[in-house]
Amino acid sequence: MLKINKLHKSYKMGDSSLHVLKGIDLNIEKGEMVAIMGSSGSGKSTLLNIIGILDEHDEGEYTLDGVEIKNLNEKKAAQYRNKFLGFVFQSFNLINFKNALENVALPLYYQGLGRKKRQEKALFHLDKVGLKNWAKHLPNELSGGQKQRVAIARALAAEPKLLLADEPTGALDSATSVELMQFLQQLNDEGRTLLIVTHETDIANMCKRIIKLKDGIIMQDKNIKQVRC
Ligand code: ADP
Ligand code: MG
Repeated sequence: MLKINKLHKSYKMGDSSLHVLKGIDLNIEKGEMVAIMGSSGSGKSTLLNIIGILDEHDEGEYTLDGVEIKNLNEKKAAQYRNKFLGFVFQSFNLINFKNALENVALPLYYQGLGRKKRQEKALFHLDKVGLKNWAKHLPNELSGGQKQRVAIARALAAEPKLLLADEPTGALDSATSVELMQFLQQLNDEGRTLLIVTHETDIANMCKRIIKLKDGIIMQDKNIKQVRC
């Protein structure tokens, strides 16, 4: 599903440059549930953003579902993002003046779906995350855990092959974090491929594989027995 070879990334700032990823090799197969760990500044988000085609690498190869991701123009990049990827962020990134249903339906608009189909599909996915009865509520009327579920429903509505989550539990209390991870485990049980950035060991242990980044390289990459609660 995803193959990365000798990937490098630097950020250029004026005359200086910060070498953040220094030769990443990584393969992820369909159906995996992978945690990316590492201390703050270790390059986790940089890697996730490159995988998510939100940013570009400088050197190395990145192949996603058989497509080489390189030098894409913004239109092509957006096309592949829509086709392959779903995103979940720590801060939920919901649109505050749109209700839960409208938030979930939005990416379907960009897929060119008609209004009725969008509503149906959005409601189906809200139901899947247990929030059918909250469809008409605005984000500020939802708890953190509920907001993150709306964000997940929005990501899933476009039927991505790979779900990318950057610290999805970072803004949640620990009980809600565990609930959210149980929900992600359920999605993975159904065959979804998940890549989750976290710096919390408890969260990583609920995945099936842990990759540790340090100073821009992979220090450790191991399959684990997934913790189920
Ligand atoms: P993590 O997610 O592991 O905390 P990041 O990938 O966000 O780490 O950042 C890795 C390093 O790259 C940090 O030192 C950060 O300051 C730097 N960095 C991240 N994004 C940018 C950017 N757009 N421009 C310059 N430096 C950046
Ligand atoms: Mg980060």
